[in-house]
Amino acid sequence: MKLIDVTVPLDARVPVYPGNTPFTLEAIKRIARGDSSNVSTLHMSAHSGTHVDAPRHFFDAGPAAEALSLELLLGRARVIEIASRAGVGPDELAQHDLSQDVRLLIKTHNSRLWASPRFHPDYIGVTEEGAHYLVDRGVKVIGVDYLSVEQFKNPGAPAHHVLLGAGAIVIEGLNLRDVQPGEYEMFCLPLRVVGADGAPARVVLRGN
Ligand SMILES: [Zn+2]
Repeated sequence: MKLIDVTVPLDARVPVYPGNTPFTLEAIKRIARGDSSNVSTLHMSAHSGTHVDAPRHFFDAGPAAEALSLELLLGRARVIEIASRAGVGPDELAQHDLSQDVRLLIKTHNSRLWASPRFHPDYIGVTEEGAHYLVDRGVKVIGVDYLSVEQFKNPGAPAHHVLLGAGAIVIEGLNLRDVQPGEYEMFCLPLRVVGADGAPARVVLRGN
C-alpha cells in the first residue's frame, strides 16, 4: 500500500495566485534568539498551495469550508491524464469512462509547473462545458493540478459557478507529477476553518 503525497509544500517558493496573500512563516519566538520555544505565525490565503474551494467561494449563502462532507473528501478516486494544453473540455473528458466516479483528479502538464516558484498564467483549466460534463455525469469532487480549476481570467468564472453551484467540491493545487493514471484511495482533509471560502488541505493517495 504505497502512499503518495500529492500536497505541494507550503514555503516561500510556493506560487501564489495573483492578488492572493503570499505564504510566509513569521518567527514570533525563536530559541536561537533566547526565547523558551519556537513559535511562528502563518500568513497565507485560504487558497494557498493545495486547498479546497467551498461553495462559499462564489456563493455567499453556500456552505463554507467547515461544512464540507468528509464522506466526499475520503474515498475511491480516479486519476486521469489529459494531454491538451488548451483546456479540459468534454472532448478530452469523453475519452475516459467516468460512469463509476464520484471523485476525479485531472493530471495535466500543470503538475510540471510546480518546479517553478513563479505563477504561470498559461496553466490548463476546466472549460465551462467541461464543468457541465462532469456535473452531468455525477462527479462530486474534482481535483486539478494547479492553483485554479478555472482557465486564467475566464470572465464570469463559469467553471467555478457550475461546479460549486452544483454542490461539488473542488480541490486545487495538487501535484500529480508522480501519479500514474488509475484508481486510488484518496484522503483529503481540509482545515476546519469556520466561514472560510477555501481551506488548505493535506491530500494523500493510496495505491492498490
Ligand atoms: Zn481556490
